[in-house]
Amino acid sequence: MLTPSLEDYLEEIYRLSLSAESIRVTDISNKLKVSLPSVSKALIKLNDKDYINYEPYGNIRLTLKGNAFGKFLVERNQLLQEFLSLICSKCDISVEAEAMEHYLSKATIDAIQGLVRFFKDNPDLYQQFRFYSESRSAEAEDRSP
Ligand code: MN
Repeated sequence: MLTPSLEDYLEEIYRLSLSAESIRVTDISNKLKVSLPSVSKALIKLNDKDYINYEPYGNIRLTLKGNAFGKFLVERNQLLQEFLSLICSKCDISVEAEAMEHYLSKATIDAIQGLVRFFKDNPDLYQQFRFYSESRSAEAEDRSP
């Protein structure tokens, strides 16, 4: 098990691994807006837990285990963003997905995936939900002073 913070590091390393040939500490630091020493500390922990291979001032490489879990983390984040926009939440979607991702069980993630797929497979039902949701927020606006 990784802490939410280490999950975010691994998630970002996986994202960077998709687009860059080599991943640098400064890339992670810029993306997550954290200091270089904090990144180094996190990388040492991820190395010790066998998610990456990392030597200070050397290359950062995902292990097979790190690659598989990183992929899961990125997909989980995408799913939650999709879910929040699907339910017409007026929240800041990327910020909220970033926070909630760490606290949901696998069972809940699976259930959310089921709901997202259900609406994708049944666009007419989704249309009904959209309509219902929009009339609810219109009512709420009417009630507000
Ligand atoms: Mn997060």
